[in-house]
Amino acid sequence: MSRYIDAEQTARTLLSITRVYDSKYQKGFYDGIDRALEAIQDTPTADLAPIRRGKWDYKTVDHSGNALYRCSACKGFVRGTYDFCPNCGADMRKEPKNV
Ligand SMILES: [Zn+2]
Repeated sequence: MSRYIDAEQTARTLLSITRVYDSKYQKGFYDGIDRALEAIQDTPTADLAPIRRGKWDYKTVDHSGNALYRCSACKGFVRGTYDFCPNCGADMRKEPKNV
């Protein structure tokens, strides 16, 4: 499974490394950083859409006594809970932590 990261932030992190050229080893290290920056620049971008996230934030019952849950993203009510809101498609699963 692919993992998408912010390429601009990664490049800024690599560019923030202070460079001191006082040994042959360090020049090789910085050459490696430059190659990584070139690889980031040359990598095609993926066509991604931001993930809309939500939570089931409110529970009530309808006139028949059925449980209704409210989506925090669209404020719509549905019977039961789902991984994705049936009204707006918001991802209701827990946000994954960085691997
Ligand atoms: Zn929703």
